[in-house]
Amino acid sequence: MLPLLVLACLTGAPGHCEVREQGAWPDQASCQRAGREHVPAPGWTREAWTCGDGAFWVAEVAPGVYVHRGQVAEPGPGNGADTANIGYVVGEEAVAVIDAGGSDAVARALLDDIRARTDLPVWYLVLTHMHPDHVMGAGVFLEAGATAIAHPAFAAGLAARYDHYHQAYARDVGPGWSAAEGPPPVSETPEAIDLGDRVLELRRHGVGHTTNDLSVFDRDTATWFLGDLAFLTHLPSIDGSVTGWQQALRAAADRPAARVVPGHGPVSAPWPDAAAPTLSYLSDLATGLRAEIAKGTALIDVVTGESDADLPGWLLSQTYHPRNITAAWRELEWE
Ligand SMILES: [Zn+2]
Repeated sequence: MLPLLVLACLTGAPGHCEVREQGAWPDQASCQRAGREHVPAPGWTREAWTCGDGAFWVAEVAPGVYVHRGQVAEPGPGNGADTANIGYVVGEEAVAVIDAGGSDAVARALLDDIRARTDLPVWYLVLTHMHPDHVMGAGVFLEAGATAIAHPAFAAGLAARYDHYHQAYARDVGPGWSAAEGPPPVSETPEAIDLGDRVLELRRHGVGHTTNDLSVFDRDTATWFLGDLAFLTHLPSIDGSVTGWQQALRAAADRPAARVVPGHGPVSAPWPDAAAPTLSYLSDLATGLRAEIAKGTALIDVVTGESDADLPGWLLSQTYHPRNITAAWRELEWE
């Protein structure tokens, strides 16, 4: 049966809409079970609901597949670095967590949600890439006994940046934020992990969003955790390759999946439609920059001219678009 899709839009920001499966926001019964009121999600039209009082809410997007929606925002005091989508899959014998969130507190909230649903051990923590909003809570799951798994290029990439990430989050998120002092030790990437009658395939991607993108495909439900290879609502941020990312997404679009879990935006989205906004942004960016490079325009003039860009359909474009121009330019000027 095809999932029923609904469209929810941000109030006061026409054009910022998300398509999602019905049930991707909490229903009245799930809020009541948590002892919370069922209220419209702040800032969204009435199709988007949440449980009141800031409850940490987790959606079951497919049988045994759970996702917490991170806020579409820069990590800061208002959100405690709870700004990435993170989730978990429950098998017959064990649980695998996919991404750890941006702090110990976010990770503990997800672990509490796991413990409220199952007593099974958490065998694995799969980290989809090295960015701090996905990684800084890792210590909580390692302490709980999980083995961390990541792309072969993850460890070196994160080691070079971990101290910077730690200091920047401590400063920007502020008092109450905590995370492990050092990066999580990670194991070699297997092709698949078995949670007991439930196999998750791990797919390594070429340089795209970062140098170490890894996705997780649940065979039982054909749900694909894409990490930050797919952005929705939140403008994509390039930390790998503007051309490689497009190649990775085009290759991925040929693979059948019932739904994907993007790294930012709704908890799930239809596939391959969910690739389209990211692909279109990256493709337009590369085309525009190639034209400027061909004309001999200086990078500083392009960045300055685009610094106030409010790109339709995206949030945070004024933060990330200028950075993306700089990142993509470095790559494209050598073509
Ligand atoms: Zn990322």
